[in-house]
Amino acid sequence: MVEKVFPNIFRMEIPLPASPLKAINSYVIKGEGRFLMIDTGMNREECMEAMQSSLQKLEVDLRRTDFFITHLHADHFGLVSELTRDSSKVYFNEPDAQVLRDPNHWEKMVAFGLVNGFPESDLKAALMKHPGRRYHARGPLDLCFLKEGDRIQIGEYAFLCVETPGHTQGHMCLYEPKAKIFFSGDHILDTITPNISLWSDNVDPLQQYLQSLDKIDAYDIERVLPGHRHPFEHHRRRIAELKKHHEVRTEEVLAILQKGRQTAYQVASQMTWDIDCEMWEDFPLPQKWFASGEALAHLRYLEGRGRVRRELQEGKVLFSQLEGLRQ
Ligand SMILES: [Zn+2]
Repeated sequence: MVEKVFPNIFRMEIPLPASPLKAINSYVIKGEGRFLMIDTGMNREECMEAMQSSLQKLEVDLRRTDFFITHLHADHFGLVSELTRDSSKVYFNEPDAQVLRDPNHWEKMVAFGLVNGFPESDLKAALMKHPGRRYHARGPLDLCFLKEGDRIQIGEYAFLCVETPGHTQGHMCLYEPKAKIFFSGDHILDTITPNISLWSDNVDPLQQYLQSLDKIDAYDIERVLPGHRHPFEHHRRRIAELKKHHEVRTEEVLAILQKGRQTAYQVASQMTWDIDCEMWEDFPLPQKWFASGEALAHLRYLEGRGRVRRELQEGKVLFSQLEGLRQ
């Protein structure tokens, strides 16, 4: 599916089989003699076929195409290794590249999952099935790093890089101040909520995410072009909804902790999830994994605000509510 969203800007819908996300938006901007593609799809056949037929319709020449990838996740980054040519530039951010280049990345996640209560027997299977592992780019890739305020000029558009950490540590959006359009990646989505997960102890991704939402709230935006679902106009209303969502989730986590000390995995199993399964036991393993990461992000956020504390007991991290320290 190809749709023109602005003069010389096109949205290609690339299907994501068996994913609740259903599809990813890849965008092509036509300049004079050059193209820019924003996000790509997973490195799998179904994505490549849809991509090729869309590129044909748009008459895109990959030898004259550069790429901007909003963040490290396989549905955005995966296919770039199959699309890039010797003459292509791949624009990316440094924090996410560090994760991709860490040879121990998955082992660290396994260790983190284990200490946070994910059953050992399920961990290996969860990671084997993890789409981020199965459908990622074939490396190594030459990347061109961008930072806040850097510019990409393509045709009549001058895009500004906007750092929006939260969904990932290096997540980056593109803003065009004249046309007032904003490529939001997975920072702001309209009808679904971006996953905010914690998989390392040194960060507070929910705190970062909420800050990044406030940052974008101040931008003058007429159209958001997101990584999933449809483009939309009301960015401030959506930001308010997303902030509210995390407030409600935070309260839910606190209510669950009233039952006593628990691992993040146990907390996740009692939270409400928008998924077609009645019982936690029936959740597909990758969904249990994402849910646990999200529970952890909220626990970490509450810990940072002095409302939750953690203790290590027999190799497991247990979280409990701190009474009387409400901020
Ligand atoms: Zn993502």
